[in-house]
Amino acid sequence: MTSVLRLKAKLPPPLVALADLAYNYWWSWTEERVSLFSSLDPAQWQACGHNPVALLEAVPDERLWQVAEDPHYLNRLHQLAREFVAYCRDHHPWASQVAPSLSPDRPVAYFCTEFGLHESLPVYAGGLGVLAGDSLKSASDLGVPMVGVGLLYRQGYFHQRLNRSGWQEEHYTHCEADHLPMELVRDEFGQPVTIKVDIRQRPVRVQVWRVQVGRSQLYLLDTDRSDNDSLDRRIASQLYGGNPETRLAQALVLGIGGVRMLHALDIEPALYHLNASHGAFALLEVAQRELRYTDTGFEEMAHQVRQRSVFTTHSPVSAASNVFSADLIESFLGSYWPQLGLSRDEFLALGNRHADDPWGLFSMTVLALRLSGKANGVSHRHGEICREMWQALYADQAPDHRQVPIGSITNGVHTCTWTAPLMMDLYRHHLGQGWPQKIAEPSLWARVDQIPDDQLWQRHGLLKERLIAYTRDRVRAARHHRGEAADEIAAVDKLLDPAVLTIGFGRRFSSYKRGELLFSDLHRAIRILAHARRPLQIIFAGKANPADDEGKRIIQRLMEWCRHPALRDRVAFIEDYDMAVAKLLVAGVDLWLTHPRHPEACGTSGQKVALNGGLNCSTLDGWWAEAYQAGGAGQVANGWAIGQASPEPEPDPDRQTQQDVDSLYSLLEHHIAPLYYQRDRAGLPRQWIAMMKASIRSCAPHHSSDRMVAEYLTQMYAPSLAPVAAGSL
Ligand SMILES: *Cc1c(COP(=O)(O)O)cnc(C)c1O
Repeated sequence: MTSVLRLKAKLPPPLVALADLAYNYWWSWTEERVSLFSSLDPAQWQACGHNPVALLEAVPDERLWQVAEDPHYLNRLHQLAREFVAYCRDHHPWASQVAPSLSPDRPVAYFCTEFGLHESLPVYAGGLGVLAGDSLKSASDLGVPMVGVGLLYRQGYFHQRLNRSGWQEEHYTHCEADHLPMELVRDEFGQPVTIKVDIRQRPVRVQVWRVQVGRSQLYLLDTDRSDNDSLDRRIASQLYGGNPETRLAQALVLGIGGVRMLHALDIEPALYHLNASHGAFALLEVAQRELRYTDTGFEEMAHQVRQRSVFTTHSPVSAASNVFSADLIESFLGSYWPQLGLSRDEFLALGNRHADDPWGLFSMTVLALRLSGKANGVSHRHGEICREMWQALYADQAPDHRQVPIGSITNGVHTCTWTAPLMMDLYRHHLGQGWPQKIAEPSLWARVDQIPDDQLWQRHGLLKERLIAYTRDRVRAARHHRGEAADEIAAVDKLLDPAVLTIGFGRRFSSYKRGELLFSDLHRAIRILAHARRPLQIIFAGKANPADDEGKRIIQRLMEWCRHPALRDRVAFIEDYDMAVAKLLVAGVDLWLTHPRHPEACGTSGQKVALNGGLNCSTLDGWWAEAYQAGGAGQVANGWAIGQASPEPEPDPDRQTQQDVDSLYSLLEHHIAPLYYQRDRAGLPRQWIAMMKASIRSCAPHHSSDRMVAEYLTQMYAPSLAPVAAGSL
């Protein structure tokens, strides 16, 4: 029996529709749908990590029967069940006109090492995963046939705890795959579908879980089977947790295993999209499959593979990420390259920047660039950087870096996922019922101007109070857990004040993101934050990579500022940043700070903030370099820019930091705080509210993942599909 049927058998008959909803992450996109589950048993909902399947299994029958008799609940359930059926059936003429050859059997296969759909499915670490999750959701909304291919990490990404000295400690929990909203894929005899991948000279059996994401599917590959060697079972236990050997094994399962799995499921992708390079071996496997049936050579086959492959690169630095030593590649892939008709040197050259590269490293990014017909960066600026960075790869075709064939598509976020329910409601009233179908249309968002100032301000205020209450709960629990003194715990009642301008900073902590920029000059920071009439407060959240001691030291210093006598009520740190924390944080802050050292690929959290009426204060990099409007000449600014737009990265990072610090302090002290505290007789900061509207209006349509997926379809997928439909593959 499938898991859905098993769950249905447990539910009282009037509630069986809950099972279908629980097994499709469509439920997670709006709070209205979420509350169908959370309202059954709010405490259990927390205890289950917001997982509806585990919740329905845990809620006592008595309670289930109670709601099964509640006409109000049943009405809500049936209304949403009808919406869900209609959503799944909906036709999308636009997508099928642009790319008629895409279909559920011939979809875009979207490979990524992490997917961030919801906090209950812990197979993501941060921005890359959230982007992949938002892409699957928007593909579903727009009717673009897409399947995601990723890995099931049984221990997921680590949970963060800070000890008494403020040092990050990592701990892992084990995911109960059988109790998550996903289904083990079985054959007609009820046996799990498996494929094999040779790793370390051993065949590793891989099974697969299907996660429904609206009309998209996500397939998660899983090696944790009892018939695998114990080392092989743990290949994908942790996301980004392993040594190079484990990471390479993961890349083999994802790339080679992913292509074999799609084939075993009778899915014949029309196109392969690599989101970052971890899945790049997929393209070798596509070539390998075809080579078995023809006598063309690898070069010719690679040419054909390029016609149906797309690569999105994320790293803003060439050397650092996703490289393996030649020795490691040799020991893992030594028996694979003969199947491609390649020698050792020819194979290694696929991952080398140029023929006489003294580097000795095999780069997954280079491999992906070599085998993809189209490639892009994730913002205009990032595209430019990539063209410069990879010019050597294209030296014979593109003498000038501007001719390097790497384009750019700027990231966006899934609007419904990242907009707080109170704001969704406001948009429903003022933009119209059908607004979620027209998210990428600027004319829709022009109507934001009609929202009465007091309504926007009042709702924003509620979201902020909610964030502050949540922050206090989390900080109180953390202090308790650390065994802090009673007066430290009691002091949390005074932490943060809803009347004070509230800044948010939620990102990974690593030295290039400069998480402690605000405290570069402690005296000045105190003067600004603890100002008598115009105070500021800030909430931090974010993890440091387990191996990044510098990142951990930044967190440790932030924890010191949290305890500093002059700052203790004004600075808070929420541990264990994840999508649930992110949703509250981006919805409740007045101002969002982003100030990485140049260059930054894109960044997306500021886009989420804009949807909820928060304002951005950011260096002119990534998406903000495109979105920022300085205002003037009758136009209202939509936020603030730290420092100058820099056409070239400042060669001296310390100088850049000093300039950015000065700019940040001056903005906060002389522009941002005065504007926020400037109130009219009704107590409203009219100019601030005008900026909130300018920010929503200008950012929401363009920085949505609907706009992004539509651009991938028209610029990257459709042009590749045309020749292939008639071609030989
Ligand atoms: C949106 C999001 C990110 C991405 O953050 P950026 O640093 O702005 O790219 C990371 N983590 C979580 C949990 C998010 O929701």
